[in-house]
Amino acid sequence: MGTFRVILSLLVLGAAAALAPARAMAQQAEVCDAESVEWAGPALANSQSWQRMEWAPFGPTEYGWETYLPLVQHELGTGCAPGSPVFARRLAEFQFGHGLPATGWFDAATFQTFRGLWQERRPFVMSRVREEPCPDPPPLYQLGYLVESEEHADRLTRLLRRDVLDAYRRLVAAARAEVPEVATNPELLQIFSGFRDPEADAARCAASGNCDGLRRAVCSPHRTGTAVDLYVGQLAGLGVDNTSAASRLHMTRTPTYRWLVRNARRFGFTPYVYEPWHWEWISPTGGYAGQ
Ligand SMILES: [Zn+2]
Repeated sequence: MGTFRVILSLLVLGAAAALAPARAMAQQAEVCDAESVEWAGPALANSQSWQRMEWAPFGPTEYGWETYLPLVQHELGTGCAPGSPVFARRLAEFQFGHGLPATGWFDAATFQTFRGLWQERRPFVMSRVREEPCPDPPPLYQLGYLVESEEHADRLTRLLRRDVLDAYRRLVAAARAEVPEVATNPELLQIFSGFRDPEADAARCAASGNCDGLRRAVCSPHRTGTAVDLYVGQLAGLGVDNTSAASRLHMTRTPTYRWLVRNARRFGFTPYVYEPWHWEWISPTGGYAGQ
């Protein structure tokens, strides 16, 4: 019996020792102030601009670029703060790699390069760029119904393509396990818009005069059944899809959104930088056609 216990504890110790390096690596904090002398200038500039820079990336004037910070950090492969030397160095490397002056300063030209990369990952957008005809909606048999707990109170639709719905369900299960606010707030990640029938969209546009800049009526990615609008929080008094700078900043500060930026791709979803709630599923073959 004593021998058995000794063997058992040796096994447990062995397993713990084998796991230790992995755990140590996961817990290792990223060093963000390395090379602080060389990158002090751009780090200072970024520390001042990230909440203040006056620019107009989407038309209206915005102040600061904090709204886009989670996507930028993810692209650069760093969690370091915008005012840190390592962030500046990573940004300079990105700029160099994309033919931009490698200043390490965040600026509008660098943002447009990021934005181009993010847009290129959306097959729907690329098909529009290639001036292909607007895709037909999927046949009805490919669509599945959301269950009630997946539908947001402000929903427009309750259908999604079945394969995308499966991917969405895997994503939500992971988020509930990994993000405390998602585990405790069932509203988070509910869908307020999935598949939208183009004819219903056009009718809604005609009846309400709210054509969402004509996108809904003309050719919305929601007609493919692969685009989802997910509830990621909202600023009090504003809608779940309000595009004001304050609303989008609020959404991109939520742990839910930040988790999506880091993890949604695992489940096939890619972001649309301007709308923190809008995510598009990409099939394993790289398009939106799937099935
Ligand atoms: Zn959408």
